[in-house]
Amino acid sequence: MSSEFSGKVAVITGGGGVLCSTMAKALSNKGAKIAILDLRLEVAERVAAEIRENGGEAIGVACNVLEVESLKLAHEKVNKELGSCDLLINGAGGNHPKGTTSKPYLYAEDLTSTEEGLKTFFDLDPEGIKFVFDLNFIGTLLPTQVFAKDMIGKTGASIINISSMNAFTPLTKIPAYSGAKAAVSNFTQWLAVHFSKVGIRVNALAPGFFLTDQNRTLLTNTDGSLTDRGNTIIAQTPMSRFGTPDDLTGTLLWLCGDGSKFVTGVVIPIDGGFSAFSGV
Ligand code: NAD
Repeated sequence: MSSEFSGKVAVITGGGGVLCSTMAKALSNKGAKIAILDLRLEVAERVAAEIRENGGEAIGVACNVLEVESLKLAHEKVNKELGSCDLLINGAGGNHPKGTTSKPYLYAEDLTSTEEGLKTFFDLDPEGIKFVFDLNFIGTLLPTQVFAKDMIGKTGASIINISSMNAFTPLTKIPAYSGAKAAVSNFTQWLAVHFSKVGIRVNALAPGFFLTDQNRTLLTNTDGSLTDRGNTIIAQTPMSRFGTPDDLTGTLLWLCGDGSKFVTGVVIPIDGGFSAFSGV
């Protein structure tokens, strides 16, 4: 049976992760052939196997989005086994504790404090900051360099980057991740313009707060109740809940498909109203 993305090849970096594995399955349900690229081969293969068990076509590919050689090998494998890329989802990304302060605000007494685990702005490790910038920004740019050439001149070619709420207004404690996702949003606009004459649209999703492995301990306690930060987020979210991965799929499918054929360079918040709400 033919459906919207029949015959199209979707390459999804970070496709073994919580959000992007759901996106992969949604694209597969609409007929796309799926390449799950992930640093962790076993999770990439597991997600690909789940898609195949459900009647789809998918492969898992070991790939580090920060290494051009690794990306080129992945590209070769995808071309050989599925065909050339039509849709690229740049999903690999995330934060790192080394780019994170332990408190939202700096107080003068912090400078002389001996409190265990206290990490102020002045203690941030440049290597940690660089790791986060590389993973989110360079990890979006390099896969695009490797896969987007396949897409030139095709009909229905689309790139979807993954930005975040903190690209609009930085969240406390995570300056590296906020700056890196702001770079992803900015790059989305730049690339949309740059690729506008070769038929590739470039847009981004900006998920709000989704409970995943990366942020679970930040937002919930072991008994499932919310941490102070979790409570603050829910109080700032008019729809009063965290997102679930399937909240992203409608917008993803729309941005990948013909329904958005005159849309390029947008970053769409999927956040239960978080970014629209002033708090008052
Ligand atoms: P996740 O950790 O479940 O998935 C990320 C995946 O990327 C993992 O499978 C990991 O193995 C892979 N990965 C990490 N480094 C890689 C590398 N160098 N090369 C290839 N693969 C690599 O995270 P998630 O919560 O599903 O997030 C997916 C995307 O959504 C990320 O870009 C994240 O920053 C973004 N995001 C998440 C949230 C949220 O609330 N969870 C909110 C906004 C944006």
